[in-house]
Amino acid sequence: MRDTVVLHPGLGVGHLVPTLELARLFLRRGLAVTVLLVEPPGTPTPAAARAAVANNPSIHFHTLPLPATDAAAAAEEVEANGVDGKSSPPARDPFAVLHRANAPLRDYLRSALPSVRALVLDMFCVDALDVAAGLGVPAYLFYTSGATSLAVSLHLPHAQAALGARSFGDVVVGDGAPLRFPGVPPFRPTELPTAALDRDNALYRKFLRAFERIPESRGILVNTFEWLEATAVAALRDGACVPGRPTPPIYCVGPLVSGAGGEVNNNNKRHACLEWLDAQPEKSVVFLCFGSMGSFPKKQLEAIAIGLEASGQRFLWVVRNPRRDDGASMLANDHQQPEPDLDELLPEGFLERTGGRGLVVKSWAPQAEVLRHGATGAFVTHCGWNSTLEGVTAGVPLLCWPLYAEQRVNKVFIVEEARLGVEMAGYDGETAVAAEEVESKVRWVMDSEGGRALRGRAALAKEKALEALEQGSTSHNDLLEFLRGLDGDASH
Ligand code: UDP
Repeated sequence: MRDTVVLHPGLGVGHLVPTLELARLFLRRGLAVTVLLVEPPGTPTPAAARAAVANNPSIHFHTLPLPATDAAAAAEEVEANGVDGKSSPPARDPFAVLHRANAPLRDYLRSALPSVRALVLDMFCVDALDVAAGLGVPAYLFYTSGATSLAVSLHLPHAQAALGARSFGDVVVGDGAPLRFPGVPPFRPTELPTAALDRDNALYRKFLRAFERIPESRGILVNTFEWLEATAVAALRDGACVPGRPTPPIYCVGPLVSGAGGEVNNNNKRHACLEWLDAQPEKSVVFLCFGSMGSFPKKQLEAIAIGLEASGQRFLWVVRNPRRDDGASMLANDHQQPEPDLDELLPEGFLERTGGRGLVVKSWAPQAEVLRHGATGAFVTHCGWNSTLEGVTAGVPLLCWPLYAEQRVNKVFIVEEARLGVEMAGYDGETAVAAEEVESKVRWVMDSEGGRALRGRAALAKEKALEALEQGSTSHNDLLEFLRGLDGDASH
C-alpha cells in the first residue's frame, strides 16, 4: 500500500482550492493523497466539492459523515444559518461543525492506519490534533492564508492576554496608536477580524484557542513564497510571533493557485466572459470580484456601477445577490444562491450604456482564468488570500476592498509591505465606498504614473512567484524539507 497523506480542509471554496493544489504537489512526489470532505446530514454536497471530486480522479476523496446534531448543536446551526440550519453549509461557526467530524475522522484513520503517513489539518480542524495524537499519526497544519496573517494569528493570544480585561475594541476607542505585531506592518485594531474587537465574543474565543493550538503541530505548511512575505516568514521562523513557546518548522510551499474556481459552474466549457475578454485590448480591463462569499447591498452595487461608468474604463464585474441584513448569507456558499436580477439591482440603463466596454457576470466567473487573461489589467479584490495569490501570480495590480475574516490584515500586507495594491477608501466605513472613489481609483490604476509603477511591481512579483516553484528555489526546497520530515517520522 502506498504511503498516504490525509488532508482535512476547512469548509468552503477558499479552503478547498489550495488544499487540492497541495494534494497535487504530494501526488507529483509519489505519495497517495486522501482529501476529507465534511457533510452535515441533510445538506446537499456543495458544488465546489462535487467539482473537486469530478475533476481530480487521482485524488481519493472520503466524506466524513457528521453525526446527527444534538439539540444544542442544532440550535447553534440554526443561529449560524439564520434560517433553519439546513439551507447551506453552516459556516458561521466552522469550529463547531468540524469538531463534530472528529469521531468519524478517528474511525476513518483507524481503518486506513497502516498506510497513513501524516494528517494535514486546516486551521479550523485543529482539534483533530487530539485524534492524531491518540492514534500516533504525525499531524501538520496547512495554513491556507499567508504568512503575515499567520504571524497575526499566532501572536493574537499573546497580544490579547497583554490587554488584560480590555478588548481590541477598547484600544480603538483609546489612544489610536497602531498595533505592532512581529513581522507585520503597524496596523489599526480595526483591521483585525471584527469578532476580535470584543474579547468576550464567543467565536473570537474559539479562534484564540485554535491559534494557541497551531504550534502543537509538527510543522506548518503556508500558502506563500518567501520573497513575497520575507518579513513575516523571518519573524515566524525566529519564534518572535509566539513568545515563550517553540514555533514548529514553517514550510512556505506556495503560491498554490489554480483555475479550479472556474470549473465550479463551468463543466469545463470555456466561460463566455473569457470569449468577451478575447476581444478586448491587452491589459485594458478592470476585473471586480469579491470571493466565494462576498456580496453588497443594492446601494453599494449602485455606487460601484456609477463609479465604473464615470471612469470610462473597460470592466468585467461579478455581481451577486445582496446579502440579507443579518449578515448570515455573507458566510454562506453564495454562488449556490439564486442569480441576481441585474435590471433590478443596477442603475436604470447602466447595462445598455456600458455594454460596449463592460460586462457584468452573474454570481460566479472563472476568476483564476480571468486574471491570467492578457486583457485583464487590474483586479478589484476583497483580499481573500486565494484571490490575492491569483492576482499576484497573474502580475495584476490590486485595488483592495476587504470585507471580512482576515482580509483587512491581508490588505495591510498588500498595501504597506508588498506595495502590490492600494486601498479603496471607505471599505471600513459605516457607509460605503463612494462612487467617486471607485471612479478615481479605477482611473488611477489604469491610467496614471502611480498605476504604471504598481503594474511594474506586480510584474516583478509574478516573476518571483514562478521562480519560487522552480527546482532548487525556496518553495520547492521547503516542500522537500517537509517530505524529509515525513520520512523522519516514518523511521521513528
Ligand atoms: N472564485 C471564483 N469565481 C468567483 C469567486 C471566487 O473562481 O466568482 C474563486 C477564486 O478564484 C478563489 C476562491 O474562489 O480561488 C476564493 O477564495 P478567496 O480566498 O479569495 O476568498 P474566500 O472566498 O475564501 O473569501
